[in-house]
This record gives sequence, C-alpha cells and structure tokens, in this order.
Amino acid sequence: MSDPDCLFCKIVAEEVPAEVVHVTERTVAFRDINPQAPTHVLVVPRDHYENAAALAAGDPAASAELVTAAAAIATAEGHEDYRLVFNTGAGVGQTVFHAHLHVLAGRSMTWPPG
Ligand code: 5GP
Ligand code: ZN
Repeated sequence: MSDPDCLFCKIVAEEVPAEVVHVTERTVAFRDINPQAPTHVLVVPRDHYENAAALAAGDPAASAELVTAAAAIATAEGHEDYRLVFNTGAGVGQTVFHAHLHVLAGRSMTWPPG
C-alpha cells in the first residue's frame, strides 16, 4: 500500500534519501529536514495512510507501533521529556499527507502551541 506520488512512501522505499534513525516491522523513523528542536524525528508507517486517524482505523497495530518507536527514539537520544505531534489537516499545518508522528525534544517548549 503505497502512493507513487507520496514523498514519505518514497523515503520508506529508499527512493528519496533520509537520515533513518529507527526501523520496526511496520514503521520507519528519520530526521526532519527542517528540525524545530535538537531532536526532531518523524515516525511513519511503512504503508500509506493520509493521517493518524486513518492509520488508527486501518492498522491499529502500526498506530501503536508509531508511539512505541517514538518513545524508543527519545530514550535513545537521551530525552526523558519529549513532545509527540500529529498534525491533521492543512489548517493546522499538515503538509505531507502520509501519517507521521513528530518527535520533538531537547529544548523547553511552550504550551499551548501557536
Ligand atoms: P507536517 O507539516 O505535514 O506535519 O510535517 C511534515 C514534515 O516533513 C515537516 O516538518 C518537514 O520539514 C518535513 N519534510 C518535508 N520534506 C522532507 C524531506 O524531503 N525529508 C525529510 N526528512 N523531511 C521532510
Ligand atoms: Zn505515502
């Protein structure tokens, strides 16, 4: 299940290079090209789903694996505190329509987000 026009499908397929930091059976994690924190990693399902809700409905195991992978990445990079973000919809900043979990850590963060 991949979309030939999708950037993150191409990264999963290794057709577009990325700095991969973690892989599991159902997920791939790589550094964001425009990092917003010292650690900024994107965890994506190998299969194409438009957003986190579609992923949770279509493949709950992969959905859970994203969060497990995110926690492992934060720990591996030495962070006890971290923020996980799923932007869902262009109105809140989603720009790539392949589900991805942002893992942000390594600096203080404000709440609520802007
Ligand atoms: P969104 O705005 O959809 O929640 O997040 C998409 C993220 O993908 C952005 O943080 C953006 O910097 C990142 N991104 C866009 N293009 C690329 C790319 O080609 N490689 C990598 N590693 N990250 C990308
Ligand atoms: Zn995709």
